[in-house]
Amino acid sequence: MSAGLNLAQLQAVHYTDGACLVLAGAGSGKTRVITMKIAHMIEKGMDPRRIAAITFTNKAASEMRERAKGLIGRRAKDVLICTFHALGVRMVREDGHVLGLKPQFSILDADDVTGILKEASGGTTDMATARQWQWVISKWKNMGLTSEQALAQAADDNERIIATLMARYEERLAAYQSVDFDDLIGMPLRLLRDFPEVRAKWQAALGHVLVDEYQDTNATQYELLKLLVGEKGHFTAVGDDDQSIYGWRGATLDNLKKLPVDYPHLKVIKLEQNYRSTSAILRAANNVIGPNPKLFPKTLFSELGEGEPVRVVDADNEEHEAERAVARIQSLRAEGTLAQTGAQHKEFRDFAILYRANHQAKPFEKALRKANIPYKVSGGQSFFDRAEIRDLCAWFRLWANNDDDPAFLRAVTTPKRGIGHTTLGTLGVYASQYKLSLFEALFSSSLGAALSTKALGSLHEFGRYVNDLEFRARHTEGADNATAFLREWLKEIDYEKHLHDGEESEKVAAAKWTNVLEFCDWMAARCGGQIEDVAGVTERELKSLLEVSQTIALLSTISEREKDQNVVTLSTLHASKGLEWPHVLLVGVTEGMLPFKMGDGADSLGGSSKADEAANEDMATRLQEERRLMYVGITRAQRSLAVSWTRRRKKGRELVTALPSRFI
Ligand code: ATP
Ligand code: MG
Repeated sequence: MSAGLNLAQLQAVHYTDGACLVLAGAGSGKTRVITMKIAHMIEKGMDPRRIAAITFTNKAASEMRERAKGLIGRRAKDVLICTFHALGVRMVREDGHVLGLKPQFSILDADDVTGILKEASGGTTDMATARQWQWVISKWKNMGLTSEQALAQAADDNERIIATLMARYEERLAAYQSVDFDDLIGMPLRLLRDFPEVRAKWQAALGHVLVDEYQDTNATQYELLKLLVGEKGHFTAVGDDDQSIYGWRGATLDNLKKLPVDYPHLKVIKLEQNYRSTSAILRAANNVIGPNPKLFPKTLFSELGEGEPVRVVDADNEEHEAERAVARIQSLRAEGTLAQTGAQHKEFRDFAILYRANHQAKPFEKALRKANIPYKVSGGQSFFDRAEIRDLCAWFRLWANNDDDPAFLRAVTTPKRGIGHTTLGTLGVYASQYKLSLFEALFSSSLGAALSTKALGSLHEFGRYVNDLEFRARHTEGADNATAFLREWLKEIDYEKHLHDGEESEKVAAAKWTNVLEFCDWMAARCGGQIEDVAGVTERELKSLLEVSQTIALLSTISEREKDQNVVTLSTLHASKGLEWPHVLLVGVTEGMLPFKMGDGADSLGGSSKADEAANEDMATRLQEERRLMYVGITRAQRSLAVSWTRRRKKGRELVTALPSRFI
């Protein structure tokens, strides 16, 4: 098991008696340490079920599971490898009843949340304001504040309004038996903190907890970790302060600073050898991060040779930049096919184009398409944001949790089934009068007094249909059965016709229908069946469709299916964390894009010098985070790196003159 590890890595893998922090630069094998340590502990006799490894994304989790399987075979299946949020789902499902939550609770996504906030405010708000409320409420929840506490500490009228809304919002979530993403961390924390028997149970269940990308955890996640591991502190955290890029979402480096204080016996291990990149690439990375203040000084070296120099490429505008990127991919690939040059063969999957913001992908997509180069956009607009997919999800959520009112309202009207707004309005008033969910209310005997027989009949029919689906979904296991069931259901509700009725263009409707089928197949595949693992052993891991339905909100990408595709990756820098490619093209490295244009802060405030100072400090902090983002981008590259910028960049609808990023 020690093959492929250096001494410092081995030390980290073998230390299992207490708290361990591996603090090291990019590409030094931190993630490898986690995977090997899981394998090591199992070989030493630890029950795989007592190990939890926490990753930053679902994709990272599935990759780690694959690697672990490669090392120790099927025993890896029992290790809990997931994100903090997925761990939260499990904890809330098992123990949420002590907080008054049914195990079939719904998980709301960001759009549901803004919808509920708009409705809670009386429905006259615009989207931007609702988003801003959501953001503030999320921040408070991440700080562990209840709505009363938020109200008590509100700084101005606006905050008082938001705190009042937060109270209404939380009431609605409770009524809908729903939680938002922040609750998936906050609730487990409350469970462990306020319920000693729950705490004792989880602490006893887990023998060792490993956390990857520790620098991007937030305060609540750290509290959760501490309570999970208890006094003994059997955990391994690995991270790199230079790669902390989620500060804007509440992640805090304080978590790194606090570790040695909270765990005085903390074993700190530093890794210095980079196994990913050539020296030229590493030098560029070190130059970029250099000006940032050093929290923990680190040195990194590579033995992979000097390699090709890092290229800086200029372009007139984005379209030109995209053409040049495509040309580079084509010429590198051509090199690889000429035997006499001795250059390695390069697959499409060896290339990644990385950028600061989602919208930057467009020109590159167009250019790649024109050149017939296959690609995928990761970290972009999620499949799950599409209207047709959200329609299906509403149904899934409703059959998993009948009390999910937002899902009820969407499902009952999609496709239309002759239940109109007046009927639903009456049902809503009745439900809130008797404190029932819409679904519960529709079966109440006294509802008949408020509605026509016809309207009541339609509601009852819908209710019975949902019950029927719930029953069938509960008893549908395995991919084949699930596919059959889903196809039948789509026919029953005539969803394809609904798509064609709603679209002026046949082509758009057909594309949506393809998405729907693809999504259903993907859902079905998650119900298990024949799965061939690395060792070629076939096993059956069956899940019911009902179980799978509950967790869809967590899966923001369907990337798990895409991993083997031989295509060029287009990704935001944020979504590229932890990954690596032989050839990386870092694009849009133009002043104003990276670092991202940050308002004119200090001057526009113009208030007291104290406010100026605070604004300056804020700017400096943000600039440091942009610098780390650039560092993350550079360090994704293994063999070659090209950095490009444009002489003109889009600013709103205009084109403005631009300069190369200060990071170049
Ligand atoms: P990041 O900071 O980007 O998350 P990391 O520190 O997690 O990087 P890994 O992804 O674990 O680094 O490793 C980087 C690359 O180096 C991987 O391809 C890995 O397989 C390889 N690697 C790690 N350790 C060794 C080693 N001891 N010998 C050979 N290759 C190694
Ligand atoms: Mg890593």
